[in-house]
Amino acid sequence: EPLIGVLALQGDVREHLAAVRAQGAAAVTVRRPAELASVDGLVIPGGESTTMARLATRFGLLEPLRSAVAGGLPVYGSCAGMIMLADRLLDAPPDQVTIGGLDVTVRRNAFGRQVDSFESEIALEGVPGGPLHAVFIRAPWVEQAGPGVQILGRVVGGPADGKIVAVRQGNLVATSFHPELTGDRRVHALFVDLVRTHMADRSGAGNERGVP
Ligand code: GLN
Repeated sequence: EPLIGVLALQGDVREHLAAVRAQGAAAVTVRRPAELASVDGLVIPGGESTTMARLATRFGLLEPLRSAVAGGLPVYGSCAGMIMLADRLLDAPPDQVTIGGLDVTVRRNAFGRQVDSFESEIALEGVPGGPLHAVFIRAPWVEQAGPGVQILGRVVGGPADGKIVAVRQGNLVATSFHPELTGDRRVHALFVDLVRTHMADRSGAGNERGVP
């Protein structure tokens, strides 16, 4: 069974632990480099990305997180987590750092200051069973995505029509919205599947090279 970490510097950590466990995976909080090193996948929760970035730096986690992403660790980022995974930010303080890895430009608080939150039905590529009820809270969107980025979902209708709100690039998945808040576990199921596949691929590759 995979062991999935939830980055627990700030944000809605408990909901993600519960959502991951509902998929039959083990879940632990991650606050230290040693904890990060022990997990097969990582969830970065929603919260406040400026605070999360500052705490990641202070806890000596930023470089370990960047190395883990570069090394292929599967990571799912929701909302502030999407911001943390982005290579480029708009409407962020100039000194806000990210982990990066996703070749996207993400605009913070993109849906407008008046609209603190809104809800919408989003059809997600690779997620069967019909559109997902998505909850957006001071959410970012993906303003621009590089050629290697798979677009998993867009807003349909309303003033944000067509905006990209779910993406995948290799082992990185990000959503603007909060599936951990709705009881719909399909995004966590997709991510835990990705972690399981990644683990199976790695052990397969190890066996080909004769590594036990
Ligand atoms: N607005 C927050 C930020 O910029 C993200 C909001 C959220 O994660 N719900 O970090």
